[in-house]
Amino acid sequence: MTTEKIDIISGDYEEGVARAGGILRRGGIVAIPTETVYGLAASALDDRAIEKVFLAKGRPQNNPLIVHISDISMLKDVAEDIPDAAYRLAERFWPGPFTMVLHRKNTVASRVSAGLDTVAVRMPSSIAARDIIAASGVPLAAPSANISGSPSPTTAAHVTDDLDGRVDAIVCGEDCAVGVESTVVALFSDPPRLLRPGAVTAEQLRAFLPDLVIDKAVLSEPAKGESVASPGMLYKHYAPETETFLAEGESKDFVSFVNSQADCAAVCFNEELPEISVKKISYGDRNDQSTLAKNLFSVLREVDRLGVKRVYVHAPDKLGMGLAVYNRLLRAAGFKVIKL
Ligand code: AMP
Ligand code: MG
Repeated sequence: MTTEKIDIISGDYEEGVARAGGILRRGGIVAIPTETVYGLAASALDDRAIEKVFLAKGRPQNNPLIVHISDISMLKDVAEDIPDAAYRLAERFWPGPFTMVLHRKNTVASRVSAGLDTVAVRMPSSIAARDIIAASGVPLAAPSANISGSPSPTTAAHVTDDLDGRVDAIVCGEDCAVGVESTVVALFSDPPRLLRPGAVTAEQLRAFLPDLVIDKAVLSEPAKGESVASPGMLYKHYAPETETFLAEGESKDFVSFVNSQADCAAVCFNEELPEISVKKISYGDRNDQSTLAKNLFSVLREVDRLGVKRVYVHAPDKLGMGLAVYNRLLRAAGFKVIKL
């Protein structure tokens, strides 16, 4: 398949958006920019288009997709029995990196929800993403636009590396400002449950949902055969090819640990760069959680170019957005954690 590149930065924006919307409306699959990571979009109402998304990504069939809307009026087209809390949360956190899992309306293709009777819904703050949804005229299901298992794409170049020749078009827009996937909260059950941490933090959500529970899959590996509320949390995921370990502890212990290892690289904080004698890449200042999140997936892609056997990533503190970064790194490392 030839993949059309639609450049909405140096090319005509309006024309590019209309072009992407048309391909999507006719059942095609198109990678689009959002503020979290690039998404691989298809009409959420079209089972065959959704099947193409799973095939292009090599995504496990039991991992459901998030439906993206461009206006609050579209919410009732994809979900039903919507609790009042959902509207209060939407008012505060939409448009933005925040996803709610609600009861599914059966107009939504059942493949979108991988057979579940619930649906995950988000309204992105990326204007390009919302304009493309509006131009397509349908809600768009969009998982991250990468090959399943590899680090999520935060630039159009990452998408091209993974999906060129496998999708109808790639909309080349801005780099993703947030850099990690949206916060996912299940609202169909009582108490509400945080299924995936993101830029909207648990601390922010507790002001609206005081009884919010953090699903235990967020910070630990589900046992074999255990069913989890968010199937996407089951897998080794977001991972470089290079064997990756997550190392937790103080800077001085991380520095002396990596300096004593052979054939390895370190993914570290800026402050640690001068002290580390092995190959190294920084992903930001230790206390700047949003920069760590923004750089995370680019750095995980760079790791494979270092030509080392192992990489040790210094774990962020689990506060604020640090929880989202830690959650992704735990999976990138296949749950291999070294306590320093
Ligand atoms: P991605 O498409 O890569 O952003 O992944 C979507 C995430 O949302 C995965 O972790 C899914 O398991 C989760 N998700 C999507 N739909 C549902 C749903 N109906 N119930 C629970 N989790 C969901
Ligand atoms: Mg993904």
